[in-house]
Amino acid sequence: KHEIIFVGRSNVGKSTLFSALFGKKVRKGKKPGTTIKPNFLQYRDLLITDLPGYGYIRGVNRDFNERVKDFIVHYIENNANRIIVSVHVIDAKAFPEVVERWESRGEIPVDIEMYEFLDEVSNVIVAANKIDKVENVDETLDIIAEKLGMLSRDMIFPVCAKKGEVKPLKEELKKRLVRAGRSDLL
Ligand code: GDP
Repeated sequence: KHEIIFVGRSNVGKSTLFSALFGKKVRKGKKPGTTIKPNFLQYRDLLITDLPGYGYIRGVNRDFNERVKDFIVHYIENNANRIIVSVHVIDAKAFPEVVERWESRGEIPVDIEMYEFLDEVSNVIVAANKIDKVENVDETLDIIAEKLGMLSRDMIFPVCAKKGEVKPLKEELKKRLVRAGRSDLL
């Protein structure tokens, strides 16, 4: 059994990306802040998992946000042996600003904390979504790589989920499946 997981702060466009990649609409919980459960897609014995969005959600108490983070961490720890790749989805436009805001307060941004965790326990790649909103793509990708402590930009895939522009990311996922011996999937 193999699994691909999608992780990201809420509102980065994770559900939109999921549909753009797999052509399936994921059910979104009606009310954010009430349930914590992943959305699953099953292709024979490949599981594709959309984990709940973490981070601040307007109108939701902090305790819930902490529970979401704990859920994600436990889920990944429990399934690490079958996860062939983790896709960390970020909002390419908002990311540099959000990170700098946290850093200026002397705090470690939750996005970076999550990326470092994913990097430690799995093979992580970054989907830099909402790239249509970014003016200088090159510069922004450099900033993202630097903030995440990545040695190169090779594992950052700029995407525009809204317009269905996800090809390089999809190709990378296929490559990972081939590497795992699953060229028959996707
Ligand atoms: P999720 O909470 O991460 O699942 O986010 P959603 O998929 O619900 O998307 C949040 C918002 O971002 C929605 O208004 C989407 O239309 C918008 N969005 C998603 N992808 C893109 C994109 O590539 N570009 C732009 N400009 N907006 C996007």
